Amino acid sequence: MTAQIISGKDIAKQIREELEQEIAELKEKHNIVPGLATVLVGEDPASQVYVGSKSKTCQSLGIYSERYDLPDTTDEQTLLSIIDRLNKDPKINGILVQLPLPKHINENNVLMAIDPKKDVDGFHPVNMGKLMIGEPDYLPCTPHGIQELLIRSGVKTDGADVVVVGRSNIVGKPIANILLQKKEGANATVTLCHTGTRDMASHTRRADILIVALGKPKAITADMVKDGVVVIDVGVNRIGKTDEGKSILCGDVDFEAIKEKAKAITPVPGGVGPMTIVMLMSNTVKATKLAAGLV
Ligand code: NAP
Repeated sequence: MTAQIISGKDIAKQIREELEQEIAELKEKHNIVPGLATVLVGEDPASQVYVGSKSKTCQSLGIYSERYDLPDTTDEQTLLSIIDRLNKDPKINGILVQLPLPKHINENNVLMAIDPKKDVDGFHPVNMGKLMIGEPDYLPCTPHGIQELLIRSGVKTDGADVVVVGRSNIVGKPIANILLQKKEGANATVTLCHTGTRDMASHTRRADILIVALGKPKAITADMVKDGVVVIDVGVNRIGKTDEGKSILCGDVDFEAIKEKAKAITPVPGGVGPMTIVMLMSNTVKATKLAAGLV
C-alpha cells in the first residue's frame, strides 16, 4: 500500500480562498476590516521568519496588520503596556505574541495579559478552559489545523483510536482535547503518550490515527505503526543545510518507510506547517465577527 499524501499546502490554499471571501463580505456589508497585531521580542531568526510570513499573509488576505519588533532587552513591563494598549485598540481584533520570549520575561504573565477575546493563538487559560468544557471560541492554531486536515481529507475520527505523541500545551494537549469532544470531526478515543509512557510502541501500533509532536527526527519508525494507519506528523526538525544554505527539514516520523504501510500521511514540509498560519487568520476573522456581534 502506498499512502495518500495529505497536502497541507493544498488544504491551506482552500481555506485561504474561503477566508478571502469572508473578509471581502465583512468589508462590503459591514465596512469592517479585521486587524491583527504581532509582537516579537528579540532577533531569533526562526521567529522572525514566522512573524514575517504572518504579516505577509495578512496583507494578501486584506487583514490590517501591525507589527511590533522589540529588542531582546525589552523588559516585561514595557511588553505588558504594549499589550494593554492593543487590548484597548478597536482596530485590533487579534494579538499574537511570538513565543518563545527571552528568559527574563515571564511567558505566563504575558499570555495572561492578552484579552481572551483577542487571544487568536488560543493560549489564554480562559480559552484553554473553554476548550476543555467543549465550548471554545478559539482553538489553538496548530491543533485546529490538524483537525481541519483530517476533516477535509475525509478521515473519520468518530470512534477511531487516536494516539497523540507529545503533551505540549501548544500541540499535544489541545489536539487530544479537540478530538475527544462529542462533536463532528472528533468523538475519538484518545491516548496521550509522553516520556513517562511505558512501551510507547504498544500504543502507537494500536492507532487508527497517529499524531506525532515530539520534536525528534524520525523517532517513529515503520515497526511502530499498523497497516492502514493515518499519520499526522507535526514535527519540524532541521537536520542539515543544502549547498545553497537552505535548511533541510524532516518530521518526527520516518516518512519514506511509513508511507508504504499507511493509508494516509502528511509530509514535512507541506503538511501541518502551512495550516498553522491559515488557522491564525481564521481565528482573527472569528474574533472580528465576535467583536461586531456577527456570530
Ligand atoms: P515540546 O514542547 O518540545 O514537547 C515535546 C513533547 O514530546 C513533550 O510532551 C515530551 O514529553 C514528548 N517527548 C519528547 N521525546 C519523547 C520520546 N522519546 N517519547 C515520548 N514522548 C516524547 O514540543 P512541541 O512544541 O509540541 O513541538 C513538537 C514538534 O512539533 C517540534 O518539532 C516543533 O517544531 C513542531 N511544531 C510544529 C508546528 C507547525 O506548525 N508545524 C507547530 C508547533 C510545533 P514530556 O512532556 O514527558 O517531556
